[in-house]
Amino acid sequence: MQNVTCADFLKELTDYLDATIDESTRAELEDHLAWCHNCYVVCNTTKKTIEIYRDSQLYELPDDLRSRLQTAILAKCATRKKPSAT
Ligand SMILES: [Zn+2]
Repeated sequence: MQNVTCADFLKELTDYLDATIDESTRAELEDHLAWCHNCYVVCNTTKKTIEIYRDSQLYELPDDLRSRLQTAILAKCATRKKPSAT
């Protein structure tokens, strides 16, 4: 695969971003990125989307931690006495 076309690039893009491709294919794709602005933009956009997706998963608390937090918050609420509770 000497001349990587845009179609080739897009086909390999997810593997490229996942770093699951071999070194030579990776080098060819990076060579394509060096001169093809269109694929460069697509690559960056996809990369950012994946990063946002991965970051958002960090906000998902593990169930264990979530329940411990919930217990702690409920315990705090229980000890706090509101003057005009309904
Ligand atoms: Zn291209």
